[in-house]
Amino acid sequence: MAEKHVYRFGNDENGNNVTEVAGASVNEAKWITGGKGANLAEMANIGLPVPPGFSITCQTCVAYATHNNTWPAGVLDEIDVARKDLERRMGKKLGDPQDPLLVSVRSGAPFSMPGMMDTVLNLGLNDVSVQGLIKQTNNERFAWDSYRRFVQMFSNVVMGIDGDLFEEAINEKKEEKGVRLDTELNAEDLKDLTQTFKSIFAKNVDSQAHPEVAPDGKASFPQDPYLQLRLAEQAVFGSWMNERACIYRKQNKIDDNLGTAVNVQVMVFGNKGETSATGVAFTRNPADGTNERYGDFLINAQGEDVVAGIRNTEPIADLVKVPALKEAGKELFHVFEILEDHYADMMDIEFTIEQGKLWMLQTRVGKRTALSALRVAIQMVDEGRITREQAIMRVAPEQLDQLLHPQFDPKAKVDVIAKGMNASPGAAVGAVVFSSDAAVHYHNIEKPCILVRWETTPDDLRGMVAAEGILTSHGGKTSHAAVIARGMGAPCVCGAEALRIDAKAKQVEISGTGVVLHEGDIISINGTTGDIILGEVPLTRPELTGDLETILEWADDVRRDASRGRIFGVRTNADNPADAQLSVDFGADGIGLDRTEHMFLGERKQIIQSFILAESDGAKQQALGQLLRVQTEDFVGMFKAMDGRNVIVRLLDPPLHEFLDDPRAVAVQLAHAEARGEHDTTLKAMRAHLARLDSFQEANPMLGLRGCRLGIVYPELNDMQVRAIAGAAARLKKEGFNPCPEIMVPLISTVEELKLVRSQIEDVVEAVAESEGVELHIPVGCMIELPRAAVTADEIGKYADFFSFGTNDLTQTVFGFSRDDVESAFIPQYLNKKILKSNPFETLDSGVAKLVDVAVKGGHQANPTIVCGVCGETGGDPQSIQMYYDLGLDYVSCSPYRVPIARLAGAQAKINSNGGPAQVK
Ligand code: PEP
Ligand code: MG
Repeated sequence: MAEKHVYRFGNDENGNNVTEVAGASVNEAKWITGGKGANLAEMANIGLPVPPGFSITCQTCVAYATHNNTWPAGVLDEIDVARKDLERRMGKKLGDPQDPLLVSVRSGAPFSMPGMMDTVLNLGLNDVSVQGLIKQTNNERFAWDSYRRFVQMFSNVVMGIDGDLFEEAINEKKEEKGVRLDTELNAEDLKDLTQTFKSIFAKNVDSQAHPEVAPDGKASFPQDPYLQLRLAEQAVFGSWMNERACIYRKQNKIDDNLGTAVNVQVMVFGNKGETSATGVAFTRNPADGTNERYGDFLINAQGEDVVAGIRNTEPIADLVKVPALKEAGKELFHVFEILEDHYADMMDIEFTIEQGKLWMLQTRVGKRTALSALRVAIQMVDEGRITREQAIMRVAPEQLDQLLHPQFDPKAKVDVIAKGMNASPGAAVGAVVFSSDAAVHYHNIEKPCILVRWETTPDDLRGMVAAEGILTSHGGKTSHAAVIARGMGAPCVCGAEALRIDAKAKQVEISGTGVVLHEGDIISINGTTGDIILGEVPLTRPELTGDLETILEWADDVRRDASRGRIFGVRTNADNPADAQLSVDFGADGIGLDRTEHMFLGERKQIIQSFILAESDGAKQQALGQLLRVQTEDFVGMFKAMDGRNVIVRLLDPPLHEFLDDPRAVAVQLAHAEARGEHDTTLKAMRAHLARLDSFQEANPMLGLRGCRLGIVYPELNDMQVRAIAGAAARLKKEGFNPCPEIMVPLISTVEELKLVRSQIEDVVEAVAESEGVELHIPVGCMIELPRAAVTADEIGKYADFFSFGTNDLTQTVFGFSRDDVESAFIPQYLNKKILKSNPFETLDSGVAKLVDVAVKGGHQANPTIVCGVCGETGGDPQSIQMYYDLGLDYVSCSPYRVPIARLAGAQAKINSNGGPAQVK
C-alpha cells in the first residue's frame, strides 16, 4: 500500500466523526501524526468537540528535509484532496468573498517542543475574503484585527521578516491615536495597519528566496489562499531544523530524524466578544500535584494573548462564575474528567469558547515537576486508575534530582554573569574563595563559600568538603571537580571558560562583562543549569516527601521480586562511614565500590608518602603499621554502617605519584632555595627528594604502574589492606555485627594477575581468621575495566566470585582517549557533529556494551554463580541502567546521591524488559 501522508480528523458536514487514526493507540500514532495531531484525533474519537482539520505526517517532513526542501511526489495532490474535503465538510472555501474558511497551520512533533517551531493563524484571509468575514461576523474590527494578525504572523514566521518592524508600526499607530492598548485601536486603525503591514511585507521580503510572492518581479503579500497554505506548511516543516529547535532537541535528547507533523485546522475564535474566551489549563496542579483545576483564561482573546502574558488572566476555576461562559465552563470541567478517565493521567489542555461554544484545541499529558509527578502518580493509584507499576513508570528518574539537592527559589530574579557545565546538580550560595585553606577558614567561621579553581586536584578535597559549591574554569563533566562534587552531592559548575582566575591576587575576572570578583564577594552557582550568578539567590530546602519514599518503596518491591525477572540491586560508591550511612538512608543495598585510595587523603597522605619514599625497611614497616591502624578503623566504621550488606573494598588503584608532591612545585622551591643561597646540605637533600619524585613520574600514568600491578610490585601494600579488611570484619563479628566485606582487585588484564593476587589475599584472610579465632568468608573478585580482561573473562571468571565493570577505564581504553583530556576539548564537538550520540562517560556506549556482554557471558561460562555489577559512572545513568539490566547484570553501583534515581530506574528497566507495566484489571 502506498504511504499515507495526510490523516483527517473531526466531523463531516452531517456531524459524523470521520477521523482517520494513524496507529492502534495515541502512543503509536504520535510517531506519525505527531503528539498534537494524534491527540486531536483521539479527542475527536471520544466525542469531544474538536475543530475539524487534517495532519500531514512527520515522515513527510523528514522526506521534505532530506530532499532539499522539496515535496515528495504526490504529497501536494494528497494535501489538495484533504483541503477540498475540509472545505466540503465545513461548507466553506478558503478565500471565499462571502463566507471564507480560515485555518491555523501548526507544528506538532512526536514529543512536545513548546514554542520551538512555527505556527500561523487566520490563514485564508486576503483583501477580498476579509470582506466576507466582516459580513459573516458583522464585526469589522474583529475582521481587520484577524487580517493584520495574519499578515504579521505570516511575514515573520513564513517569510522571516523582522517582527520588530510590525511591533514598531503598531506603536506608531497607538501614539498617533493617543492610546495605550492594542484593544483601544478601532476597525479603521486596524485596517490602516493591515495596509502598513502589507507595505512592510513588500519592502522587506526576500523575493529571490521567495519568487512565488513576486511573480512579476514585484513582491506583494500573497492573495492566493492556496499559496498561503503551501508556504505556511513549508515553513512549519522548515522550522523543524531551525536553530532553537535543534538546540532544544539536543538538550532534551530528542532524535533529529523524527520530524514534525503539520496540523491544518479550522480556526475558532475566542475574540468574538464577551461570550468568547480562550485558555490553557491542567486537570491537576502541575507544580505540586494537588487535585485541583489549574490554569488561566481570558475573555475575548486569542490563544497567544494568554501565553504572551500581555493581559491579566483569570483563574480557570472562575470560568463558571462568568454568566455568559457558565455553560461552556461546566462542559469544559466535564471534559477534564473525560480526559482523565480516558488517558488515566494529568492532562494539559488548550481550549477556545467561540460565542458560547466550547472547542478543544489541544491536549497532551501534562509536564510536571518531580513533586507533582510523584503526587499525581500516587493519587491515580489510589483512585484505581493505574497500577503501582504504571505509577513507577510515570516518574522520570532524572527528575528526582530536583528533590535531592537545595534549589534556587524559582521566583527569584537572577543576574547570570557566566555559564559553565552543569556538572553536579543543586544550588549553592557563598563567598568566593580561591584556595582550600580559605575554604576551610570560611567553613570554620561558619560562612558559606564557593571554591573557585582553575580545576581541582585530590589536594583540594578539604576545600571541596568545606565549600558549599565548586566552580572551575577548566575540565569537563567527569573532571575531578565534577566527579567528586557529584559523589559528595555538592553543586558544581565546571569548565566556565569566561573565568580568568588569578588565585594569587585572589580575584577572578569574568571576561566580556567587566565584572571582577574578589575573595569574599558573594556569588550563587546553579549546578543544575550551569549558571553563575552575581549575589545571593534565596534557596529552598529539598523536600524529601513521603511520596518519594512511597514510590521508591514500590520500585524496590519490583526490583526485589524474583518471581518477575531477575533481582536487580542498587549499590553505592562510598569510601567513608558518613557516605556509607547516607547511602543506607537513600536505600542502597550495599557498597559496590569503596575506592580505598580516597582513604589516604588529608593528613594520611603523609603516611603513604613516607611509605612510598621510605629509604629503609624500618621506615617502610612503620608507615605500613600506621596505615594498617587507620584503615582498620575506617573499615570498622563502614562495615558497621552497612551491617548485613555487601561492601566491596577495592585494593589500591592509582599510580603512586598521585600521593606525592608535584615535582614541578618542588623544582620551583629548589630554584628559589638556590637563588637564596641556601646551605649545600639543604640543597642536596632537596635535589635528592626531587630525583626521587621524578622517578615516580610516568609518561602515561593511566596505563602505567597502577591497579593490580601495584600490589604485585609492592605486595606489602595488598597485605596491609587485606589485613585491615579482615581484621575489621573479625572485630565486628566478635561484637555481634554481621560484616560482609568483599575484596576487589583493580585493573586486571590477565588471569595470571588475579590468580596471584587472589592466593595472596586468601593467605592473609586465613591468617587473620586463625589469629582472631573467627571464621571469615570474604569473596574475591575483580574489576573488568580493560578490553583484554573483558574478552578473556571466560578464563578470569574461574578465579573470581564477582566482576564489577569499571566503565570509566573501560571506556577510556576502548576509545583510546583519556577522559580528562577529551571531555572539554572535543567531546562537545563530537556530539554536535553527531560522531557520538551521547557522552560515553555518562551513558554506556554501544561498543563498550559489546565488551560487557562478552564478559558477562564469559564470566558465567567459567563460574555460573558469578555476581556481575557495574561501578563506573554510567551505573547511575537511567538509560545505561536499562542496558545493564538487559546485559544480565545483577546490580548497578553509583554515588550516594544517585541511589534514589537508580532505584527507580532499576525498577523501570525491569518492568520494561518483562512485558511492560501491569495494567488495571
Ligand atoms: C572505573 O574505571 O570505572 C572505576 C570505577 O574506577 P576508577 O574510576 O576509580 O578508575
Ligand atoms: Mg578504574
